[in-house]
Amino acid sequence: MEITWRFILWKRSSKNIVRCDRKYLHAIVIRILTNQSRLDTVIYSTDQHGWAELLPDYTPQPQLTTSQRVPWVVVGAGFTGLACARRLAELHRDEEIILLEARQVGQGTSGRNSGFAVAVTYSNGGFRVKEEEDYRRINRINQAGLEILRKQVQELEIDCQWREDGFHHLAADKIAVCETDLYLHFLKMLEIEHTALDHEIICDRLGTKLYHRGVHVPDGVLMQPAALVRGLAERLPSNIQLYEQSPVLQIDTGRPLTLKLDNCEIKADNILLATNYEVSKLGYLNQYLIGSTLSGSFTRILTQEELGSLGSLQHWGVLSLHGGGATVRLTPDHRICIRNTAEYHGGALLSERQLTERQNIHRQGFESRFPQLKNVPFEYAWSGVEGISRNFTNFFGKQHEHVYFAGGYNGSGVSRGTAFGTALAEYARGGASPLIEDCLASAPGAWIPPRPLLDVGAYFSIRSRFAGVGLDR
Ligand SMILES: Cc1cc2nc3c(=O)[nH]c(=O)nc-3n(C[C@H](O)[C@H](O)[C@H](O)COP(=O)(O)OP(=O)(O)OC[C@H]3O[C@@H](n4cnc5c(N)ncnc54)[C@H](O)[C@@H]3O)c2cc1C
Repeated sequence: MEITWRFILWKRSSKNIVRCDRKYLHAIVIRILTNQSRLDTVIYSTDQHGWAELLPDYTPQPQLTTSQRVPWVVVGAGFTGLACARRLAELHRDEEIILLEARQVGQGTSGRNSGFAVAVTYSNGGFRVKEEEDYRRINRINQAGLEILRKQVQELEIDCQWREDGFHHLAADKIAVCETDLYLHFLKMLEIEHTALDHEIICDRLGTKLYHRGVHVPDGVLMQPAALVRGLAERLPSNIQLYEQSPVLQIDTGRPLTLKLDNCEIKADNILLATNYEVSKLGYLNQYLIGSTLSGSFTRILTQEELGSLGSLQHWGVLSLHGGGATVRLTPDHRICIRNTAEYHGGALLSERQLTERQNIHRQGFESRFPQLKNVPFEYAWSGVEGISRNFTNFFGKQHEHVYFAGGYNGSGVSRGTAFGTALAEYARGGASPLIEDCLASAPGAWIPPRPLLDVGAYFSIRSRFAGVGLDR
């Protein structure tokens, strides 16, 4: 009975696997038959989409195939894991650090986001006096991560379309328009530099008549996320050994700690997990951190004439003042990119068919902003999974003796993940710093009910996210 149920589950979830190596399927079957652990512990699905699809071909680092004994292992090579491994390598110059990535670098969420490296975080609803210290704490973390990335991009000469453009926060429909005043007040109370924008200025800058009001915040960077994450991975210090397509399938917490991979294992003194929402596959934070699936599309490269129909800015990024609104960019290589769907999909990417369906929603959002470009086709579509908690907190610290985790940034983890990863490396060796204090001050996660209650709850919370989105989608 147990086996039959697991087989049905596998059939269901396998529909969402766009590429899943045979050997992982083999591992799944073994696990089902031996009843070792939950089915989804061994699925690390991927596809060829994301911003990586726009980059030249990439030769990944090898898979780990031989057993090892090391002091430090970092699991997950997104922004958090790369920052964590780099800081560990600086602090332990004579020791080898192993960095394991389940997929290819750039195919995880870090290479599938919208490319906003955030300095200022705002959650809709305006300034609440009792939360002022929390706003400041989160923005200190954002700033710290952004500064680390800025320095690395410069020193390591990473070509990732890094642009210190700041962000446009814009409003088209009623709810978002009302939010503009709340956001302006928030910025004023926190003494954050900004410029209020009216319809005319927005048209002049971006070439869309859709938005009525908005705010430009100059502190914030736009970049090509897959190029950045790859660039960071290609320039790691020599005492870090990165293995790609090497998922950790299980962790045994005896001494030493053991990480089990497909054909080998690593014995380690310390494990730092930077696996985002997938940490539950390794048995941690079950019911506290889940994956929400987002999707977007890129146009082909615009012609000079098409660019001429837009505004005066050569590249820009728009965040919506409605929580369910579209994120839109004109990239430095002259594509428009729009991301405007979010859904609970069991923490999986969308299939090719689902992506094609979502493109209708991307298309509507694109044409309502840029009717003059209605003949410009989309060239790429992608989905990505962000780690979210019910109370929008982040996770940082010890999960078990010598096992640490940082992650779950609710859609804002480029700079924050970099700061959390750096701080985690320092914290795991007993360090103390204001940044560590700020990360540790994250509120505990709120419990998320298991499926099928989770599906019902997720359905209603996504519905509420898009309530009143109107033209902002
Ligand atoms: C569509 C979309 C748009 C977004 N836009 C933005 C944005 O503009 N700005 C912003 O700041 N944030 C944005 N985010 C969120 C941001 O991308 C994430 O917060 C960030 O990538 C988190 O980084 P991370 O390193 O913690 O996790 P991830 O990027 O998810 O990296 C974790 C890595 O761990 C690997 N892994 C997992 N389990 C294992 C295992 N068992 N063994 C080995 N490896 C494992 C995964 O393959 C993955 O590569 C967006 C997210 C999405 C989905």
